[in-house]
Amino acid sequence: MTVDRDIIIIGGGPAGLTAGLYTGRSMLNVLLLEKLSPGGQVLTTHWVENYPGFPGGVSGFDLMDKMKDQALEFGLAIQSGEVVSIQPGGPEQDYHRVVLTDGELTCRGLIIATGAQPRKLGLSNESAMVGKGVSYCGTCDGPFYRGMTVAAIGGGDTALEESLFLTKFVSKVFLIHRRDEFRGTKVLRDRVRRSDKIEVIWDTVVTAITGDDQVTGVALKNVKTNEASTLPVDGVFPLIGVQPISDFAKGVVNLDDGGFITTNESMETSVKGIFAAGDVRSKILRQISTAVGDGAIAAFMAEKYMEQLH
Ligand code: NAP
Repeated sequence: MTVDRDIIIIGGGPAGLTAGLYTGRSMLNVLLLEKLSPGGQVLTTHWVENYPGFPGGVSGFDLMDKMKDQALEFGLAIQSGEVVSIQPGGPEQDYHRVVLTDGELTCRGLIIATGAQPRKLGLSNESAMVGKGVSYCGTCDGPFYRGMTVAAIGGGDTALEESLFLTKFVSKVFLIHRRDEFRGTKVLRDRVRRSDKIEVIWDTVVTAITGDDQVTGVALKNVKTNEASTLPVDGVFPLIGVQPISDFAKGVVNLDDGGFITTNESMETSVKGIFAAGDVRSKILRQISTAVGDGAIAAFMAEKYMEQLH
């Protein structure tokens, strides 16, 4: 049977682009599928300080642009397309079918690098208020809130980093966290403490977002005292972690309880010839640097898999 591609990579963030660079450089016939344009979540990061090789930091946009250009130099083909399902195997267990919203492709090796997306608070009007004061990206939408007051929710690196970024524009950030200590790294915790524009509200959850056509505030509950209160704000930024983009792979490869794809150290999933890399993978540290490492390993192993098939 003839297949369309040696390898298909789903997702164009740091993991997918690195896999594309490596497999392209190995002269394989590779296609990277990306829903929108390559870059992934890093595009929403204003400034990246902890990716090696860039003293002083680098903008998320510039970093991803460079990663994309480097992969293109080695012949990586990039196509926009949304994957709805994958069907592994074939009668000889030697190819995989990738079903898109507008067609179908086949490949020998498949690398899933679809990453993750912001987790939602789960409040009834949350989705309806996106664009009307609710945003999951301070870096993208901060400038719309110049001189205003906003609530940021979460206690991880994203919430700390984005709250700090928001202070460039807003007059005040209420940083609302459900516990009495942050999960985020010390360097960010220290910067938040030093900021005179950030007020931390500990042990508190958001129970409602108020406003009809535009956010007017949030309803809060202190989880220790059960005391309810309201806080008038112009914007709400839920920054409470990520959920994997793996629905299309459910029932095909093994996932952990959070829906992240489980692999071994060689990025092999539970299905032969299907690899996973980056934030979509079940792992301890989700960073650009770890995604890049995953992508390189997945590409190396996919190449080995191709050699075995031949
Ligand atoms: P995270 O580390 O999983 O933190 C999520 C935060 O949201 C936690 O503080 C959690 O509270 C809180 N939370 C979760 N669900 C909630 C809910 N339903 N209601 C209220 N609060 C909730 O996620 P992240 O901050 O997005 O970071 C994800 C990964 O990216 C991490 O590995 C992080 O280190 C990395 N990252 C790194 C950088 C950097 O190095 N500069 C920047 C951004 C992200 P609890 O603490 O109580 O669980």
